[in-house]
Amino acid sequence: MYPHIQMINSDTHLPTHVDVAIIGGGIIGVCTAYFLAARGVSAVVLEKGRLAAEQSSRNWGWCRTLGRDLAEIPLAMASLKIWDDWQTTLGEDTGFQRSGILYVCESARQQAEQAHWLRAASAQGVVARELDPVQLRQLLPQAARHHWLGALHAPEDGRAEPHMATAAIARAAQRLGARFHEQCAVRGLIREAGRVSGVVTEHGELRCASVVLAGGAWSSLFCRTLGIRLPQLKVIASVLRTAPMPGGPELAVGAHDFAFRKRRDGGYTIAQRSANIAPITPDSFRYLADFLPALARQYRELRVRLGRQFIDEWRLPTHWSPDRPGPFEALRVLDPQPDRAILAEARRALCRHFPFFEGLQVSQTWAGAMDATPDALPVIGPVAELPGLFLSTGYSGHGFGIAPGAGALMADLISGQVPVVSPYPFRFERFSRAR
Ligand SMILES: Cc1cc2nc3c(=O)[nH]c(=O)nc-3n(C[C@H](O)[C@H](O)[C@H](O)COP(=O)(O)OP(=O)(O)OC[C@H]3O[C@@H](n4cnc5c(N)ncnc54)[C@H](O)[C@@H]3O)c2cc1C
Repeated sequence: MYPHIQMINSDTHLPTHVDVAIIGGGIIGVCTAYFLAARGVSAVVLEKGRLAAEQSSRNWGWCRTLGRDLAEIPLAMASLKIWDDWQTTLGEDTGFQRSGILYVCESARQQAEQAHWLRAASAQGVVARELDPVQLRQLLPQAARHHWLGALHAPEDGRAEPHMATAAIARAAQRLGARFHEQCAVRGLIREAGRVSGVVTEHGELRCASVVLAGGAWSSLFCRTLGIRLPQLKVIASVLRTAPMPGGPELAVGAHDFAFRKRRDGGYTIAQRSANIAPITPDSFRYLADFLPALARQYRELRVRLGRQFIDEWRLPTHWSPDRPGPFEALRVLDPQPDRAILAEARRALCRHFPFFEGLQVSQTWAGAMDATPDALPVIGPVAELPGLFLSTGYSGHGFGIAPGAGALMADLISGQVPVVSPYPFRFERFSRAR
């Protein structure tokens, strides 16, 4: 079961030609279409299932600079500004508000890490501050007596509503001329004279000058069919949402073993912050060397599992004829099972620290498959080995908040404008060099 998502009116007739075809109707593909359309570039989003039905409706909704990799901070700051501007210019409600985010500090080592991050992030213009235990208690009076050493607080970070935002941005993009086709899987690319010249969809061919692959957890498989190696693994994260709980904290809070944020409906989205599942699949072996150095850093809290998914992915074809249905049509919406034990851990930890949540009623649980890269940074940019192909994928569990900036950046790169932020940290070539 995944969250109830706002819908759009999907277009019915596939055009024969556009400037840019975008594969994937998550928030990344949709933001890219919005900014291309705003620059007068014709764009079509091709989505195999429903808009936002995978990661983009299942996430926590945090839009943060707090704790980000320093390389991502310019993109996070540009994105917060766009989220803000959209409040007045989009003509749609994304549910965005700057309600603040706080990470509690639980050990001396973490305190040193937070202080180090804060110095570097402040130099880039991030607004955040360290809180001592007294200030923390004033800000979060609902917290029980605890041994926290303090916290890191970013008062200008915010949240948006994942079940609303993607559709809201898509409707605004439609008004600018972008087109959206749901239930329209892309089976492959058309190449002419050594470059991309179109896509083959389940409803026919479409000619275009450029293709953006924004396929989330499917991007690595799609690239493999083109002979392009994109190291990416799926990481499964579980979430629960509660019934409305009046009087609770407005701030979004992250601790080692829980995280929560208030929802527009008055309930809370809750998760275990340090427990995600890495299913063992053939990709785990294919990309082992790429991910090994990162296992001790970015992904040290992963729980590795061997299950059915290994067999399912083992059976996936790597090549198929574009005139027949392929794996993208076989699974319209990737809908992993939430892990009950992990959610129970989150609930126990949360109630221990916030007795306010003891009576919570679970309204829904779900899980999402995140698209992790070895350095936990996305790939945003062209693929040199196949001119005309651009990637915007691998957001590694934090692409919702930076989606507006990522969409603007991709539109800049395609239309040849000065990029909103430097694309250098996100270049695809970094993986081949690392190897
Ligand atoms: C539980 C959870 C919590 C998270 N919390 C946060 C958070 O608080 N803040 C934050 O910033 N980020 C968060 N994230 C990450 C964030 O949700 C993602 O980074 C972001 O949604 C990625 O968007 P996307 O468009 O790249 O991918 P997706 O939303 O996964 O969309 C990709 C789309 O491509 C489509 N597709 C793939 N292949 C094809 C094809 N061949 N043809 C047609 N369509 C295709 C798929 O059907 C899918 O709809 C979280 C993620 C999860 C799972």
